[in-house]
Amino acid sequence: IGVTNDEEALAKAAAVNADSEAPTIFDKIIAKEIPSSIVYEDEKVLAFRDVNPQAPVHVLVIPKFRDGLTMLGKAEERHTEMLGYLLYAAKIVAEKEGILDGFRVVINNGPGGCQSVYHLHLHVLGGRQMTWPAG
Ligand code: IMP
Repeated sequence: IGVTNDEEALAKAAAVNADSEAPTIFDKIIAKEIPSSIVYEDEKVLAFRDVNPQAPVHVLVIPKFRDGLTMLGKAEERHTEMLGYLLYAAKIVAEKEGILDGFRVVINNGPGGCQSVYHLHLHVLGGRQMTWPAG
């Protein structure tokens, strides 16, 4: 109930890719094989603008080395340092984008969470009044 055909199609497409260790488009972005609008980069993470922005500021923050983190649900204790660093990088992005006073950080996990790219990423959203709950 309340799920449109579009949403069902998206969920099915996401499910096909779910749980895959296959390379993703983000590997090509990290390798600079395809262009992206980079907001922040260091040796551990890359932050770039989402190609389909859901807010005036919509930046993705990803680990450069995925290390099995296709999704948050795959996190293991060895990942805790990177997970913390990703949140810190999200704050750096918010600061750079001038939205420190109001922003949102989102991780979509798995088909049910509407994840479509299986390389862990944080969405940093802002530049408008965010509403709650998220859809
Ligand atoms: P997810 O749905 O949480 O997995 O988020 C994946 C995000 O990656 C979506 O918001 C897409 O718009 C975004 N995306 C996919 N391909 C690209 C790209 O080539 N450049 C930038 N963003 C992308």
